[in-house]
Amino acid sequence: MKKCILCETSKEDREFNREHIVPKQLGGSLTMKNLCKDCNSKIDDELDKKVAENLLFKIYKNDEKIKSNKGNHINPFNDFISKENENRKIEIGLDNEGNLEITSIPQIKPTLKIKNKTTDGKATGVLTAEANIPIEDLDKIFDELTKELNVELSPKSKEEIKSGKIKSKIINHEETFFMEESIDTWPIIKLFVRIAYEIAFYKLGDDYFNDPMRDKLKNYLESDDKYIEDLKTRHGISIHFLKDNEVNEAIFHLAKATYKDDNLLHYITILPARVNGINAINLVVTLFNRLSANVLISEDFNMYEINGLNAIMMFKNNGNKYTKEFPKN
Ligand SMILES: [Zn+2]
Repeated sequence: MKKCILCETSKEDREFNREHIVPKQLGGSLTMKNLCKDCNSKIDDELDKKVAENLLFKIYKNDEKIKSNKGNHINPFNDFISKENENRKIEIGLDNEGNLEITSIPQIKPTLKIKNKTTDGKATGVLTAEANIPIEDLDKIFDELTKELNVELSPKSKEEIKSGKIKSKIINHEETFFMEESIDTWPIIKLFVRIAYEIAFYKLGDDYFNDPMRDKLKNYLESDDKYIEDLKTRHGISIHFLKDNEVNEAIFHLAKATYKDDNLLHYITILPARVNGINAINLVVTLFNRLSANVLISEDFNMYEINGLNAIMMFKNNGNKYTKEFPKN
């Protein structure tokens, strides 16, 4: 029998699922097994879905080439349509390696009428222009058409095609476009708190059941609250983009120096420190090496046997597989 860290019910071992602390879909591989199946589906399923849909995480996953469960590269901008110009659609696709590929499409379907020589020398054919042809390849294609069909395109037709009645890659034109998307932040905040809660038990053990801060985190996780006012006011959970925050930046450099590895993907640092007269234990959770949150998990580090900086690191190797991961005491 063991006690579930959320509902606090003692259950048989088979009633527990192996739980990924950083979700598997984000490349996390550290697991623990002290959340019961009921709680697992109650707090995880909806949040995992929101995390999967979150644009910011999709961008990071694309960048790190973390594939979907079905093994496909993630396209964060699948449904994006440029609002900049009504006559033009910007399509953002992926190449074979999963890199973003941007294409500009005129909304008029490009058709190209040419004279087609037949045996009697008089006939007209219609050719629909091939999509996705880079401008610089057009002259080559005109030459091929001439050879294939034995006709000449007039200079006027060529100009018409080149002037944009044909799909063209804007990459080749060095055009700029702007996109506006909004990103839900609450699934990100909730995910950080969930990770902090689980790591607290992972590192501090069952003593954490008696920690008053644990109740606050648990209440938030179990509630439908999207925002975290109660936790935010006094002690803060604060979320930063890494490059905007000196403290988190410093931790990153410390982590790199400690583990002598530049290939960090996710890392979690436990910082017992005396802050404003409180014996605080802070967790700094950093995802994708870019997005970082400080979460206060305890106001009394004397309850635990914990000394100095502790870190849990998740590395990536060159094949973009996230294999090495270990807790360090
Ligand atoms: Zn439970």
